[in-house]
Amino acid sequence: MKIIFESCSENEAFARTVIAAYITRLNPTLEELSDVKTAVSEAVTNSIIHGYENGAGDIVMECCIHNYDVSIIIEDFGVGISDIEKAMEPLYTTRPEWERSGMGFAFMEAFMDELEVESVPGKGTKVFLKKTIGVCEEQD
Ligand code: ATP
Ligand code: MG
Repeated sequence: MKIIFESCSENEAFARTVIAAYITRLNPTLEELSDVKTAVSEAVTNSIIHGYENGAGDIVMECCIHNYDVSIIIEDFGVGISDIEKAMEPLYTTRPEWERSGMGFAFMEAFMDELEVESVPGKGTKVFLKKTIGVCEEQD
């Protein structure tokens, strides 16, 4: 599944709804559903406010399901990130003046099983998210 939508805050809710509908066939728990929606929201919000600095641009969301694994790519063609490692540190934000808390990547990492970020300054950013749905983790 691949959709392209305009970078605007209304489309953050749209992207959350689309991903929820898309993973319904895996019969996720409410917690899994909320984790995936939150991660998508954080990635899309980052593209809107940081990638395009609240201006116009396209955001691509690509998803696939393989067995019980959901893979999601959120891509923008905005300003990009010069130091990805630093950007991914919890509490690091380049926009404290906008009251951002620097927790977006930390949430994506916590709520998903895998998170990878690729970015080229001036070209854009691609966030890869992956999570296994509906398979109980082993109990200690
Ligand atoms: P919060 O998500 O808590 O509101 P935040 O967006 O600043 O705050 P993160 O989501 O962790 O925190 O992102 C950290 C930093 O990485 C951002 O401040 C920004 O500089 C950079 N960044 C993240 N996503 C993008 C993107 N798509 N394009 C350009 N820069 C980005
Ligand atoms: Mg963020």
